[in-house]
Amino acid sequence: MPERSLARPTPRLFRHPDGITAVDTEYVHPGHAAAHIVQHGGRAAFVDVGTNESVPYLLAALDVLGITRESVDYLLLTHVHLDHAGGAGRLMRQLPNATAVLHPRGAPHMIDPAKLIAGSQAVYGEERFRRLYGDIEPIAAERVRATGDGDTLSLGGRELEILHTPGHALHHQVFVDGAHACIFTGDTFGLSYRELDSPRGAFIIPTTTPTQFDPGQLIASIDRLLSYSPEAMYLMHFSRVTDVPRLGESLKGQIRELTRIAEQSADAPDPAGAIRDGMGGLWRELAIRHGCPLRPERVLALLEGDLELNTQGLIAWLERRSR
Ligand SMILES: [Zn+2]
Repeated sequence: MPERSLARPTPRLFRHPDGITAVDTEYVHPGHAAAHIVQHGGRAAFVDVGTNESVPYLLAALDVLGITRESVDYLLLTHVHLDHAGGAGRLMRQLPNATAVLHPRGAPHMIDPAKLIAGSQAVYGEERFRRLYGDIEPIAAERVRATGDGDTLSLGGRELEILHTPGHALHHQVFVDGAHACIFTGDTFGLSYRELDSPRGAFIIPTTTPTQFDPGQLIASIDRLLSYSPEAMYLMHFSRVTDVPRLGESLKGQIRELTRIAEQSADAPDPAGAIRDGMGGLWRELAIRHGCPLRPERVLALLEGDLELNTQGLIAWLERRSR
């Protein structure tokens, strides 16, 4: 075993209340994406898992937390975008008792990932796809549980409620931990990088990723999450935020503004360029108003990948609407 322990990476862990730990999935750069481990009653679950490259970090995190691989009951997957679920098949091989919990529209794509791979290659290009995600391993159908909206599951006696929350993707779901007043939101409650925290608190932006972004659905899903009055949201990008009502209002306002920018840009000579400029301008202004500690150029550099994906998603939305 000495070789293996030498190769074992050191996971970046962030301990939160109520048996919740965030693990940096080391996707793109540190602080970009967090899988969560929930521990209760001697059992454990992952909420989202990152990519194949994340798997060694997640297994190392279990070791650090003293969790055996046998005591992991669930991979709770908010949706099958590969930065969230790309490593699920590989991780499942190491967790003999785990069930992958998926929205019924997402489950088939983890059992047979061929379409998922093709779709992601269309967004990222083949070369970048390979570098980011590698070989997507399937999950055996008998190890997958497809959910219904409002289903509950028990993690060592701790009840989690599953809500279907379309808007970011049609197959998106979230996990409500009612007893601890928090929700694991995947990408439904936007993105909030800790580098942009100011004395006013967290800075948040919505994600309008291709190809199923729908502003009306996303706003309705955010309202549904807010109706639970949670104290904290756990985001994939990046982990725990509080001050939830303020963040919810900011998200909804930005979604309306981004769709307005997209509509206005539809007839521009370069619609994508116009959307990118409009969104960049909006974020720059919001970041200054929020008192973000980074200079505006650095804020936009940090958000560059999201700016690009959001632009693609808004273009896809415009095209879908005009059909
Ligand atoms: Zn996503």
